[in-house]
Amino acid sequence: MNRTILIFSVFLFNFIYACEVVAIDCNACNYDCGSLNIECYAKKRACREVANTLDSNFLTYVNDFCANYPGRMDEREKIGEAINILVSTGLLMRNELDGVQIRWCKIRGNFGSYSFGASGMVPEQNKILLDVDHKGDSAIILASLIGHEMQHIRQYRYWGTSGFRCRYMVNIAAGNGFECNNKVEKDAYNFEQRICMALNLSGCNDCGGAVPEQPSPRPDPDISRWFIPILESLLY
Ligand SMILES: [Zn+2]
Repeated sequence: MNRTILIFSVFLFNFIYACEVVAIDCNACNYDCGSLNIECYAKKRACREVANTLDSNFLTYVNDFCANYPGRMDEREKIGEAINILVSTGLLMRNELDGVQIRWCKIRGNFGSYSFGASGMVPEQNKILLDVDHKGDSAIILASLIGHEMQHIRQYRYWGTSGFRCRYMVNIAAGNGFECNNKVEKDAYNFEQRICMALNLSGCNDCGGAVPEQPSPRPDPDISRWFIPILESLLY
């Protein structure tokens, strides 16, 4: 293809994309766009734009605030004990924690566009933040808390980072909040509840209803991880 045709094709492609109103489809983040499939590309792009909203309006602020938070490495022994308890339930394999960082931070306050408060959160695929208010909790309570966050890590691994953020943002945009009405959270609360039942803990978070089995992790073969950025660098 000579350069003139390439530039024209890129222009045409951009024009078609700009004219299209694309419904948000978070599955699109993992579509294999191996060919110049405009529909697939447009969906994937819409998905990533939604995902980036969460990143730029919220997660960047949390990550910056917590990066050097004093005491972030406290209570390592108790966290290790909590992990042993969690693995003993058989609901989580020890190797699922490979590469996962667990840090303390004060995650109650204003972060970017959001006023937020939680016992824990997963701002990126392999990082768990636990709220400092829980430092005094027993190892068994921390096990249920870490279990909840590990379910979010499974979601990141299952959906990909953009897929996770897209789903989370679609729920936030729908006004579903950060708790049981948010389907991403409900899955994590359900897992937390299963851990609580296995450990005979009472007073755990409970979204009600039947507790479903968890999805198994899936591989993410995605040629567009290199293909789309090259295309985008030509377009913009
Ligand atoms: Zn959660």
